[in-house]
Parts: sequence; C-alpha cells; structure tokens
Amino acid sequence: MPHAGNSFRIGITGPPGVGKSSFIEAFGTKLVLEQGKRLAVLAIDPTSQVTHGSILGDKTRMERLSTEPNAFIRPSPAGKTLGGVANCTQEAMLLCEAAGFNTIFIETVGVGQSETAVAGMVDFFLLLLLPGAGDELQGIKRGIVELADLIAINKADGEQKELAKVARQDYAQALHLFPAKENSWQPKAVTCSTLTGEGLEGIWQVILDYQSNVKDSGWFERNRLAQMSKWFRAQFEQQLKQILFSSNDYLNKFVELETDFLKGKISMPKAIGQLLESLGSGK
Ligand code: GDP
Repeated sequence: MPHAGNSFRIGITGPPGVGKSSFIEAFGTKLVLEQGKRLAVLAIDPTSQVTHGSILGDKTRMERLSTEPNAFIRPSPAGKTLGGVANCTQEAMLLCEAAGFNTIFIETVGVGQSETAVAGMVDFFLLLLLPGAGDELQGIKRGIVELADLIAINKADGEQKELAKVARQDYAQALHLFPAKENSWQPKAVTCSTLTGEGLEGIWQVILDYQSNVKDSGWFERNRLAQMSKWFRAQFEQQLKQILFSSNDYLNKFVELETDFLKGKISMPKAIGQLLESLGSGK
C-alpha cells in the first residue's frame, strides 16, 4: 500500500462501438512513446460474468499498445456481481501503481451502473460519444454526462467531421447547465479522431490543465482520501451483511419479522428492534 497511489487515474467510458479500444490504443501508445508514461489499462465489464472478460480489456483489441513493455493491459475479472468486479479492479489498480505504473486507464461500457463505480476510483472521467446521435440513441444513461470531466466526440473525420463539430457545441452548452463541480472544474467538450490522431494532443492538454488545477487546489488529495474512505466503508458494510445473512437463525427471524411487518401485524420500529435484539446488540 505505501507504494500505491502515485499515479493519475483516468476513467474512460462510452457506448459500444464509439471507439474506446481504438482510443486507448492510440492515446495510450502516444502517452507511452511520447511522454514516457508507464500505463496500465484495466476494465470494468458488467457483462464479464457472461463473457468471461473477453469484451473489454482484451489484449487483441489493442495490438500495438500491448507490445509496449511500458504498457500493461488486463482483461476484466469475471466477478459474480458488479460490486465484486469493481472491487477486484480497484485492487488491481493499486497493485499496478505499486509496480510503478504512473498512468491508469479504467475502461467501462457507458450503458450501465459501472460508471458510478469507476467515478468512485478515478481522478478524471472521460466520456467518448459519437457524432450525430443524442444520449438516448447512443444508449447512454442520463447521469453519465454529468459525471464527465471531458466529453470527446470521436470519429470526427471524413463525412462525420461536421456532425462532430455540431455535437461538440451541443454538449459544450449542455455541460454549462449542470451545477458546478465540487472541484470547480468546468467540464469541456472536444472532438477527436482515433483514426487520424486529430484532437488527441488537445485531450492530453485538457488533462494536464485539469491535473494542475486540482493538485494546486488540494482537491486531488482530498478526493483520493474520500474515495478510499468510501471504499473501506462499503467493503465493511458488504462483508458485515454477508456474515449476518449467512446465519440461518438470523435469516429466519428476518423473514418472519418482515412478513409480520408486511401484513401490518407489527410496526417498523418494533420489528427492527426485535431483529436487533435477536443480534444481541439492540434495545
Ligand atoms: P469500442 O467498442 O468502443 O471499444 O469501439 P472500437 O474501438 O472497437 O471501435 C469500433 C469501430 O469504430 C471500429 O471499427 C473502429 O475501427 C472504428 N473507429 C474507432 N475510432 C474511429 C475514428 O476515430 N474514426 C472512424 N472513422 N472510425 C473509428
């Protein structure tokens, strides 16, 4: 643990097909080769239980990057629950940092709840979107746009270039309507193309600008501590619940009292009180 934490953590999300792996390949290779970064790419894949982690984080999707000695790409762990997968990813991230990786990408498909989990473990959140389609059409959940520190409209090349510019303007306006972020960063919208490489340098500049802002203000450290504390508490609560419900006596009592409550036989405080009593810790 003392060796972990010395990195910048970037969450990358977007609908399937937006170009997440192409982006990570192009942008990641640029960071490794031009900036001398040591990059670890991890993934939270809510579907990994079904696919055994083959959709995200698959090495074959990032052929160029995966041959770089300073890049490490790890397929999503196949956990039983999203919480489990997220937990494994968080641990893998700390391990990568301790091993000397100073830049971390955490990739997720922007269609589910995994984004909130990712937002809880990264320093910067990048949302990739397609030109010419609204959030709904892209299957993007509403709250995700609000999480973004930067929106990049990808595939801004060829015929789609103009559409991408319009989309960028729309999102830039929408971003201004959200309440100010706690770190007072004003999220931005840009266009890029992983195909031509256009816009990638601009994205790096935005990230550098963000980094110096949040580090100077002290928010970076505060946020890291808050994230770790939240993780610690969540883990404790989760394991506590597991211990509780693994006891048959407790489970039976729980179901019995819940049924009584649902039938209107007992009030909520009374039912909870009796449950706590059965644990030997309540009044
Ligand atoms: P992911 O599902 O989000 O990981 O998307 P992929 O990286 O697999 O890309 C989906 C498709 O979009 C592939 O056929 C890519 O070649 C293509 N693609 C990715 N980035 C760009 C881009 O900037 N411009 C264009 N024209 N196509 C792209």
